[in-house]
Amino acid sequence: MKEFDVIERFFNCKSYQRKDVIQGIGDDCAITRVPDGLNLATTTDTLISGVHFPIDTAPEAIAHKALAVNLSDLAAMGAEPAWFSLSLSLPSVDEAWLDAFSKSLFELAEYYSIQLIGGDTVNGPLSITITAQGFVPQEHALIRSGAMPGDLIYVTGTLGDAGIGLGILQGKHDVSQHCADYLVNRLNYPAPRLLAGTALRRIASACIDLSDGLVSDIKHILKASQCGAKIQVDKLPLSVALKEAVEVEDAYQSALSAGDDYELLFTVSEEQKGNLDIALASANISVTCIGQLTGLKEKLELRYEDEPYQVQRSGFEHFA
Ligand SMILES: [Mg+2]
Repeated sequence: MKEFDVIERFFNCKSYQRKDVIQGIGDDCAITRVPDGLNLATTTDTLISGVHFPIDTAPEAIAHKALAVNLSDLAAMGAEPAWFSLSLSLPSVDEAWLDAFSKSLFELAEYYSIQLIGGDTVNGPLSITITAQGFVPQEHALIRSGAMPGDLIYVTGTLGDAGIGLGILQGKHDVSQHCADYLVNRLNYPAPRLLAGTALRRIASACIDLSDGLVSDIKHILKASQCGAKIQVDKLPLSVALKEAVEVEDAYQSALSAGDDYELLFTVSEEQKGNLDIALASANISVTCIGQLTGLKEKLELRYEDEPYQVQRSGFEHFA
C-alpha cells in the first residue's frame, strides 16, 4: 500500500463533513470559510512515540490523544472546533493499526464536529502532528494576559490522574484494576474541555489548558498578566481513584506537577463570580477554586492549610 492509497482508504472517505469546507482533502490546499464576526484560532501539537506516549500505546489511544490535545488548546481559547489537518509519520503501513487509529480519530472528530481537511503521510518513526482550527468571537478569545491581582483561580475536573496513570504503566504503583483502568484512561483518553471553554467567554479573565503540569502552566498566565498567585494545595480537586491509588502526598504532588491533565485553569474577577456560577450550572460543568492572584509579579506561592508547601518537580519541559 502506497501513500495515496493510505490516505484514500483510511482518511479520505471517513471524515465528518462540514458546510464551511469548500475544498477538503484532495487538492493542493483546503479552502474553507470563516463566518463573519468570528476570528480563526489555530493550534498545532506533535506527539512522538516514546516521548509523548509509551511505544506500546494502542492506536485508538494515540489517535484520540493527538486530536484531543489540540482540541484542548482550542478550548483554552474559548474557540469552537472547525477543521484540522494531520501529518502522520509511519514506520510501516500496518493496516490493522491504521484502521484502529483512523476509526478512533474520526469518532472524536465527529463528536466535536471538526473536519479533517488535509495532511501528509510519510515513512519514518511514529509521530503525529495535528493542526486544529476553530472559531472564536472577536474580542472574546480567552487570552493569557487578561488576569488581574485579586482574581480567583479555578480548574475544571480533577488533577494528577494522568501522571499517576503513566506511573502505573511504568510499574511504579501497585493499585487495584479498577483504579488502574480509570487513571490510565485519563492518561490515554483526555477529554477536551470545550464546553467549559465556550461557557467561559466574557467571564474568565485568562485561561490556559494544563498540559505540562499546574505549577509549570500557571506561570504562563502569571508572566503574561504580570501577576503572582497563591495556590491552596489542599483545595486541589483529586479523583476518588487517585486518592485510592496513592498516598495523599503523592496525589497532591502529581496534581501540582504531572502533565497530561488537559483540564482548564482559568481566572475570574470577584465581579464575574456570579456569572461564572450561572454559566457553569447551565452547562453542568464542575470547577474548583484553588487560589487567588496576587500583585507579586510572577511569584507563585503554594500553601497547604496554613503552611508553605514545596513542589518536588516542576512539570514537563522539552530540552530541560
Ligand atoms: Mg495549551
